[in-house]
Amino acid sequence: MKRIVLKSGKQRPLLRRHPWIFSGAIKKRDPGIAEGDLVQVVDNQGRVLATGHFQIGSIAVRVLAFEACVVDGEFWRKRIRQAWALRQNLGLVDNPETTVFRLVNAEGDQLPGLIVDYYHDTAVIQAHSVGMHRARHAIAAALQDVLTGRLTGIYDKSSASLPAKAPLESSDGWLWGESGTGLVRENGLQFQVDWAAGQKTGYYVDQRENRRLLADYARGRRVLNMFGYTGGFSLYALRGEARHVDTVESSARAMALIQRNMELNFSRSAERHRGIQADGFQFLKEMQGRYDLMVLDPPAFAKHQRALANALTGYTRINTQALAKIAPGGVLFTFSCSQVVAREAFRQAVFTAAARSGRAVRILHQLSQPADHPVSIYHPEGEYLKGLVLQVE
Ligand code: SAH
Repeated sequence: MKRIVLKSGKQRPLLRRHPWIFSGAIKKRDPGIAEGDLVQVVDNQGRVLATGHFQIGSIAVRVLAFEACVVDGEFWRKRIRQAWALRQNLGLVDNPETTVFRLVNAEGDQLPGLIVDYYHDTAVIQAHSVGMHRARHAIAAALQDVLTGRLTGIYDKSSASLPAKAPLESSDGWLWGESGTGLVRENGLQFQVDWAAGQKTGYYVDQRENRRLLADYARGRRVLNMFGYTGGFSLYALRGEARHVDTVESSARAMALIQRNMELNFSRSAERHRGIQADGFQFLKEMQGRYDLMVLDPPAFAKHQRALANALTGYTRINTQALAKIAPGGVLFTFSCSQVVAREAFRQAVFTAAARSGRAVRILHQLSQPADHPVSIYHPEGEYLKGLVLQVE
């Protein structure tokens, strides 16, 4: 295996199990290392500190193991077995009420660069690094071994997640088996998932617990679900006996999914639900204050550090609109899924919004991602989903 030598002192984050090596920490590397190659990381005495995937960019190595390690079939089986065991402990396996969950959460499952979501009988994998892309067939084989009898197909949905500059011919498609129906259940509600055309791996698994919490607040309320995608929050609100739900979403394809999911779950949803295909920012600006439960779950405003300032301005702006216009006694569920926006920074943006709205605002819940999206304590960057539930006097 080719080697990468660290500058002296730069081994410290690795000894604390931080799974990324930045390019500035590298003293020298063996010639001929290509993006996606497995490499050994050594200190300047030649001691092996880690094994990982090399990549081009500011993160130069994503660490698979903090030791010398052979990355073979047994390696992938072991990691996936561990990931599966955690989901079993969480009560997500063979649970008839919830048949969709995250099976592999990148650094949180010691597999940086790899996401696997499980959909009833189908695994959808998403590689974020060239190394994981090149390992996709080995990963698919390990999934078949560990999930024997629980899979009919494995779909690769990586064309949008791989580094844009990598010279790859990646097209999305089946690595093994064939398509199931794409029908899943979450906390007893049914969803149609479209992994081929949908966003992410097809569904935002990470909001499961937060959607369930919303149902507890819904009874008798007039609900606005902004940025609805599959209509998840709206379905929970209807099940929680909301008086009326409006879902705003800009994508026509997502609107069609929302409609389908309404029909799957409620025979007479049309009486209590309205889908509004519109630009969310415009809608917020123009809307009147007649909602008493609102959800703001926008797409990530910042994908890079340099977009951070604009993102925070964006969060402040939409939250100011919502807090200024929500009905007295209303409750706002507000989220950020931008990884570069830290929890404190998001809270500060919402604080500014509250102050601008001039209303009395209290925090009822501070929300995050569920346990099937674990975060390595040494890799706080893995905590990307942040939410606040606010009550407005
Ligand atoms: N709350 C959803 C996930 C939302 S993802 C869930 O629980 O599954 C963000 C959604 O915002 C996407 O569906 C995207 O199509 C939509 N979107 C992006 N830009 C938008 C805009 N300007 N106006 C309205 N919707 C937008």
